[in-house]
Amino acid sequence: MLDWNNEGYLNLIYYKTDFTSEKFYSIFNELWRLNKGFSWSVIGFSLLGKPILEFRIGNSKDNIIHINAGMHANEWNNSALLMKLFDELLLNSANNSKILDNVTLSIVPMINPDGIDLVLNNFPNNDYLRENIIKINKFSLDFSGWKANIRGVDLNNQFPACWELIKTIDFKKSEYSSRDFPGPYPLSEPEAIALYNLTLNNNFSEVYALHSQGEEFYWGFNNLEPPESEFLADKIEKITGYKAVRTIKSYGGYKDWFIQDYKKPGFTIELGKGINPLPLSRFETDLNTLRNLILFCITDRK
Ligand SMILES: [Zn+2]
Repeated sequence: MLDWNNEGYLNLIYYKTDFTSEKFYSIFNELWRLNKGFSWSVIGFSLLGKPILEFRIGNSKDNIIHINAGMHANEWNNSALLMKLFDELLLNSANNSKILDNVTLSIVPMINPDGIDLVLNNFPNNDYLRENIIKINKFSLDFSGWKANIRGVDLNNQFPACWELIKTIDFKKSEYSSRDFPGPYPLSEPEAIALYNLTLNNNFSEVYALHSQGEEFYWGFNNLEPPESEFLADKIEKITGYKAVRTIKSYGGYKDWFIQDYKKPGFTIELGKGINPLPLSRFETDLNTLRNLILFCITDRK
């Protein structure tokens, strides 16, 4: 068993809070100041021009596991959780460089910064955009149900994996909406393109997309997943206590596309239980679950 320090560099209170993009960028700056044992890059920009950051930590060149969060705006809790665990990874690998000898983690904690800021009541300045957002939100100023990017496209319906079939799912929307609209065509949105290109340009061995909620996870797509997916799903079920679900009626998702194009294991993890945004009172519980999953990712499984 790995000797693991749960503290990290920054106190939990930095993370257990309304996690706006501003907080995310300032924590990144602080961690980079404290420890340069990772690399980072800008993989794209949101519609409002906010950088979408990828962090990379670890020593392996051929086993790169990708983890992302914050694709759905009102699931910003997962951006905070993933960033907190990145902090722990940094400190623990500084104390014991060997823990990341067999793996490199590619981490994108916040794919949808514009949407997250909207849910956390940071309205964009642009008048035209404001009017449009209010119209899409049916003239309500309560954005807690907003999942989409700032234009009203659901980013996890943007990927070219049976995208046309999304329309056959009855709750999906046919126009710009706070949730469930797949966009005018696949990869119409810059945030989805950023993640798509990152994945194309790398040879990820596995991917994990963090969402909420349900305390279950999805690991199949059209029977295209490799046998290894089932093996991993069994393990993840034991480690997290979450229910493994092989196939759901899901098209156009990031993990759907990854499984389809690469025939490698891809997972959508539904962290926590309740109504999104999940309350901060859940933070430590979900942090523990995600920590167990990440420790599983970095442990030599042979
Ligand atoms: Zn989600």
